[in-house]
Amino acid sequence: MSSICENYNSVLSRIRNACEKVGRNPREVTLVAVSKTVGIDEMNLAMQCGCLDFGENRVQDFLKKHEVFEGRARFHMIGHLQTNKVRNIVGKASLIHSVDSMRLLEEIEHRAAIANVVQDILIQVDVSGEESKFGAAYDEMMEMIEANENNRNVRIRGLMTMAPYDEDPEKVRWVFRKLKALQVDTRSKTFYNTSMEYTSMGMSNDFEVAVEEGADIVRVGSSIFHDTH
Ligand SMILES: *Cc1c(COP(=O)(O)O)cnc(C)c1O
Repeated sequence: MSSICENYNSVLSRIRNACEKVGRNPREVTLVAVSKTVGIDEMNLAMQCGCLDFGENRVQDFLKKHEVFEGRARFHMIGHLQTNKVRNIVGKASLIHSVDSMRLLEEIEHRAAIANVVQDILIQVDVSGEESKFGAAYDEMMEMIEANENNRNVRIRGLMTMAPYDEDPEKVRWVFRKLKALQVDTRSKTFYNTSMEYTSMGMSNDFEVAVEEGADIVRVGSSIFHDTH
């Protein structure tokens, strides 16, 4: 077995353990393998042990890899997205995790309408106020959800966040708890074109804490592709 496969299985088993700890069903959690630093060969190794979801953060890499694996894997856009690149990935991304402004939301609606597709997205929320480079504040998030009621080609499936890096993941548990609370709260209200069933949170350093706090999607890169043992 390749070490990528061992790593992938080890991340899966750590997800199962985190679920067990809090009484969750591991089937509720989707592992997105963040392949942004590796090539096709490494992705093939991950696929051979069952990986079906890849995350990319640059449009150019996304497109190259999507072309190779089209129809065999799902591709997630997880990185900051410029409005002028939206048209390239609409309809190709299973889920765009990083929608953090009204302008970007409306561009996705515009391009998805032209392509005649419904694009699933998550709103990236800046929960901590520290990682303030990207991510919508609470008010912006609500404005986007409300504006999307008039859209026809975008479906808001949930929320995404990036916790600030801390060696001790317990220190960022509150970030995950807060995103989950935001998801539960917005899911309980009725908005057209918003289903809010997913939170995308947790990376190599902190995914177990995120799963304990209710993550539905975790985005793990280095623990799969760069851990050696
Ligand atoms: C790179 C990246 C990840 C994965 O990070 P690792 O620490 O390698 O697991 C997750 N989410 C986003 C948005 C990223 O850019």
